[in-house]
Amino acid sequence: MFEALTDRLTDVFQRIGRKGRLTEQDVDEALREVRRALLEADVNYRVVKDFIAAVREQAIGEDVLRSLTPAQQVISIVHKELVRVLGSERVPLTWASQPPTVILLVGLQGSGKTTHVAKLGHHLRGEGRQPLLVAADIYRPAAVEQLRTLGRQHDLPVYDEGTQAKPVEIVKHAIKLARERRLDPVIVDTAGRLQIDERMMQELEEIKAAVRPSEILLVADAMTGQEAVSVAEEFHRRLQLTGLILTKMDGDARGGAALSIRSVVGVPIKFIGTGERVDALEPFYPERLATRILG
Ligand code: GDP
Repeated sequence: MFEALTDRLTDVFQRIGRKGRLTEQDVDEALREVRRALLEADVNYRVVKDFIAAVREQAIGEDVLRSLTPAQQVISIVHKELVRVLGSERVPLTWASQPPTVILLVGLQGSGKTTHVAKLGHHLRGEGRQPLLVAADIYRPAAVEQLRTLGRQHDLPVYDEGTQAKPVEIVKHAIKLARERRLDPVIVDTAGRLQIDERMMQELEEIKAAVRPSEILLVADAMTGQEAVSVAEEFHRRLQLTGLILTKMDGDARGGAALSIRSVVGVPIKFIGTGERVDALEPFYPERLATRILG
C-alpha cells in the first residue's frame, strides 16, 4: 500500500544523505518534497501541515545541522513524527471487569465488517479466548448467512435469530447465552448501509445504550482514502468510537487513510486487515508501520 510513498521518501533521504553537511535550505527543500509525497499519498492536508512543522522545528536546530550525520538525524526525526501521527503506542482491546466483554463492529456496507467479526474471533481464540459471534446485521440479506458460514468454516460459535428479530434483542439474547456458556468476548456484526443514515445510527445508539459495549470499533476501508476518514468522524460523533479496524491494507491505495485517521478522528487504530483470509488480521503497531513506510 505504501510503495509509492516509500519510494519517494527513499529518494529524498538518499539525496540529502549524499550531502554530508546540511544547511537550513537543504532541510527545507527536503521537507518540501516530503510534504508533496505525503499529499500525493492522500494524507489529510492538516495532518501534513502539522507533521512538516513538527519535523522542521526539530530538524533546523543547531545540534542536528552541526552533527556528523545530519541526514540520519533528519530521517530519525521523520520516523519519530510518523510514529506519533500513527498513534505512538499500541492500544490493546479493553476487557470488561464482568465477562462477557461486548465488542461492537460498526461501519458501512462493504467495508469488511462481517469478515472482520470472524477474523477478530479467530485472532482472539488464538489468544485463548472463547468468542461468540453475533449476526445482528439483519438488513444486508446475505450477512447472516455469511457469518454462519464463516463460523462453520473456522469452528467459531455464531448466534443469530434470522432476519426478523430486532437487533437490540438479538444482542441481548446473545449476551445472556454467552454468560451461560462462559463465552467471552461477544463480537457483534451490526447493520451497515452504503451511506451513513439516520436509522442505522439510531439503531447503533440503541444497541450501545442497551448493552454498554467495552469496545465500539469502526471497520473502515483503507482503499477509500479520505472518505474513510470522514466516515470515521461521523461515526465517532454519534457513537464515541473506542477504536478503528482499517481493512484492505493489502490493497494498492496510497495509504492516506492510515496516515490521517488517527490524528483527525483522535481514536486509535487497533487492528489492520491485510487480506480476505480469516488469518489476515494484525494488531496495529504504530512503530512497525512507520518503519515499513520509511523502507
Ligand atoms: P461488510 O458488508 O462490511 O460486512 O463487508 P464484508 O465483510 O462482506 O467484506 C466485503 C468484501 O471485502 C469481501 O469480499 C471481503 O472478502 C473483502 N475484504 C474484507 N476485508 C478485507 C481485507 O482486509 N483485504 C481484502 N483484500 N479484502 C477484504
